[in-house]
Amino acid sequence: MTAQAPLNSFTITQRQLGSAASVLKLDPGILELLLWPMREIHVRIPVRMDNGSVRVFEGFRVHYNFARGPCKGGIRFHPEETVDTVRALAAWMTWKTAVMDLPLGGGKGGVICNPKEMSDGELQRLSRGYLRAIAHYISPEIDIPAPDVYTNPQIMAWMLDEYEGIVGRSAPGVITGKPLPLGGSAGRGDATARGGMYCLCQACKLLGLDPQGATCAIQGSGNAGQFAHLLGERLLGLKVVAVSDSKGGIYNPLGLPAKEVVAYKERVGSVVGFPGAESITNAELLELPVDILIPAAIENQITAENAPRIKAKIIAELANGPTTPEADELLFENEIFVIPDFLCNAGGVTVSHLEQVQNAMMYYWTAEEVHEKLERKMTAAFHAVHQTAQEHRVHNRLGAYLVAVQRVAAAMRLRGWA
Ligand code: NAD
Repeated sequence: MTAQAPLNSFTITQRQLGSAASVLKLDPGILELLLWPMREIHVRIPVRMDNGSVRVFEGFRVHYNFARGPCKGGIRFHPEETVDTVRALAAWMTWKTAVMDLPLGGGKGGVICNPKEMSDGELQRLSRGYLRAIAHYISPEIDIPAPDVYTNPQIMAWMLDEYEGIVGRSAPGVITGKPLPLGGSAGRGDATARGGMYCLCQACKLLGLDPQGATCAIQGSGNAGQFAHLLGERLLGLKVVAVSDSKGGIYNPLGLPAKEVVAYKERVGSVVGFPGAESITNAELLELPVDILIPAAIENQITAENAPRIKAKIIAELANGPTTPEADELLFENEIFVIPDFLCNAGGVTVSHLEQVQNAMMYYWTAEEVHEKLERKMTAAFHAVHQTAQEHRVHNRLGAYLVAVQRVAAAMRLRGWA
């Protein structure tokens, strides 16, 4: 299988799947199909640049598995994008939609580019070009993209417009994360962090930890991390004592008020230097004596090296892949309760699914209605994962894989794929 393959995000997902497959005694045919994407589209996109030249960009769209329904997953614009990253994220989307019991499969897309060095016009032409290249492989019934790293609602709007021009009809359900006037959903903006907070609330209940005043450190002050700070404070009463970004971290044991920290970062470009707080490194933040740790930045932050020094009682993974498989075992031995990434950060895709549902019925819910539906879904998924992990005496990540893989495998068997 993949034991000797070099460790990258994709080989990690294959290894995690392998562990779940042994516990479930999964049919070899199903495992073989689940170890690789079912379909991959590689495209080259010519884009007229502002200086008159044409640049050719490379992009991917991966349909990892569609046994449970159309593929679903974001599009990333990143200079270091690789097909393996896109495959890994598409695999995680498969497990994420399954663990949430959404009638969807998993997919992901990516374009190798640096949006920070492109004008709005160039970005629009690239977005439309990418969409044209994959238009025949997406639809509300085949594959539904969404925003991800360095893509946003404006880019989704351009892509929707291009798609509707190609098919010659209105089709808002082909893409989610759209701006509200084009059929976006209320409650989509903070859905990832909100879903994580609903899980965290359940974890606190299980552990008998009162979230009111519980101390918390958040690594990463971007979309997920900032909303976690704001909502953790507002919904759960957490005392966030440390936050960070790529430039470093800040710590104040008396607490860091969310609105002020977010406003400071908007103004200065980083949380570093926030008045009254001590500067710390990202590595130090992970090892602080806090009740709750929220990784919300990048992959492979909690490793076999630092896991033994982590003091938090709960780790709520908003980031994708922040913990290595070796660290998982050590955290489990130390009885640290991990809410694994593809459960904890599934709020975004769950509200994306609600967006599709609203597009199909052409009737829109209020933010309160969306929040209530999200909370119900997150709570049910959280308990399904926890109960399965308890039954098999394994850590929650493996518990989440067991729930998800069983559901995908059941759909595959019913289709006669194994
Ligand atoms: P973002 O780009 O908005 O924010 C990322 C933050 O991490 C920034 O503050 C950045 O400065 C910081 N960062 C970058 N490198 C760092 C480093 N080495 N150490 C510490 N901080 C660092 O991204 P986001 O949308 O908030 O996503 C963060 C994570 O959450 C990613 O793993 C992403 O895949 C995951 N996620 C996000 C969503 C979502 O809806 N935004 C959904 C699911 C998963």
